[in-house]
Amino acid sequence: MYETNSFAPGAATVADFRGRVLVEGAECFTVGAGGDEFAGARAVAARCGMELVPTTLALGAAGPTVTAEAYGALRDRLLGGLEPQVGRVDGVYLRLHGAMVAQGCDDPEGDIITAVREMFGASVPIAVSLDLHTHFTPAMARGTNLIAGFRTCPHVDYVETGARATTLLHAAFSGASPVLRFRRVPMMAAAESHDNNSGPLADVYARLREIGDEPGILDASMFLTQPWLDVPGLGWTAVVVADGDGELAQRRADEVSAMLWDRRRDTVVTKVPIADALTDIRATPGRGRPVVLSDGADSPTAGGKGDGNDLLRSLLEDPVPGPVLLTMTDPAAAAACHEVGVGATVSLLLGGSQSPAFFTPVPISGTVTLLCDGDFLGRYPVQPGHAGPTAVLRAGEMDIVITSAPVRLLDAELYRRAGLDVRAAAVVQVKSSGGFRATYQPVADRIIMLDTRGPADHHLQALPFRRISRPCWPWDTDIDRGW
Ligand SMILES: [Zn+2]
Repeated sequence: MYETNSFAPGAATVADFRGRVLVEGAECFTVGAGGDEFAGARAVAARCGMELVPTTLALGAAGPTVTAEAYGALRDRLLGGLEPQVGRVDGVYLRLHGAMVAQGCDDPEGDIITAVREMFGASVPIAVSLDLHTHFTPAMARGTNLIAGFRTCPHVDYVETGARATTLLHAAFSGASPVLRFRRVPMMAAAESHDNNSGPLADVYARLREIGDEPGILDASMFLTQPWLDVPGLGWTAVVVADGDGELAQRRADEVSAMLWDRRRDTVVTKVPIADALTDIRATPGRGRPVVLSDGADSPTAGGKGDGNDLLRSLLEDPVPGPVLLTMTDPAAAAACHEVGVGATVSLLLGGSQSPAFFTPVPISGTVTLLCDGDFLGRYPVQPGHAGPTAVLRAGEMDIVITSAPVRLLDAELYRRAGLDVRAAAVVQVKSSGGFRATYQPVADRIIMLDTRGPADHHLQALPFRRISRPCWPWDTDIDRGW
């Protein structure tokens, strides 16, 4: 499972997976602590009398394009784990993300599904669960009819989606005739518009669930593709699996696609300039709760490196009352803090070291108030976080958590590991464009979406796309009948 951002600097290697989750056998089922797709698969298997044989799991989070060498090694590892099961199992469940891009391979998941199909032959059902942000391709549909994707954003249906994929597998064992139909829509939109609880697509999610529950329909998904993939064929896709009735599946896929297309103008995201946000905070501080500032363009869960420092620069020039909590990936700065020790004052350059195409380092002086190893357990989703040597630098009323490596920032666990309480803060920066809401919405006075630059910019036309197929909304606005 990996989500590529074509504009993130560098390339991902096997070490990027090993630094997160790379396990085999029984540990595949325990590493997610009962909160992942495998938990849902296990619940369905127990209910339906299926025995599951765990093979391999590699979670690499999000980041730049994966090297050809790393993808080859991970593919070999996955296929090598499955090969001994040929002729011994009745079906296969692949838990994939869906938006990986590797050097020389624009569609690793389609490639994997194809390879597994070739390995097991035409008669063995293969079920696949995918992230909402999958780049869905015809190769995936050619490989299997059993596909289920997340239907929430922020994603909170990991368990449910694993259960749905496994339910499709069980249906295939039980005499059903699953047929999959899909419809591509030539449109993309920033992740901030993908929310299922509110916003322009909330009613499409609701309709999707209705369709999924309809008699004759086995499952329904839509894939609102990760918007920072520079690959041909980029676009959103509705996917419906029916029991034998391909026309019904196609009609429903077309209906969902038309709904998405009709809402394209409402998916254009606008955000607040940093200076305006700081003026707003000074005029109206949070009433006993933090004002949460979302810096989505530098989101590590969207491939950013977490070294964006536009907000930090503005706060140094124009401070607001604290405590103000920020995060920054900067291995050299973290090392400098570890060298001088807790209590020491240090002057350094901070941020902008990982993504020089977007940011430049900012000079800062402060006091080191905490040092740690950066290991913590993320809660949303449940996954270990390895930030490497980590320090807290206090500058004025700011507490900046400086990590050596980017980590998921959807929950408040990095701040907690650094001894900082987001509930007691006046202002909290969160480098996430949407996923953070599951954690922060309940504790925030209000959330302000900052208009910042970075590899996960919401303004898609500002990024150097070169390979996407045209026409495609929002690059082209004169498409007659997109779906
Ligand atoms: Zn996603």
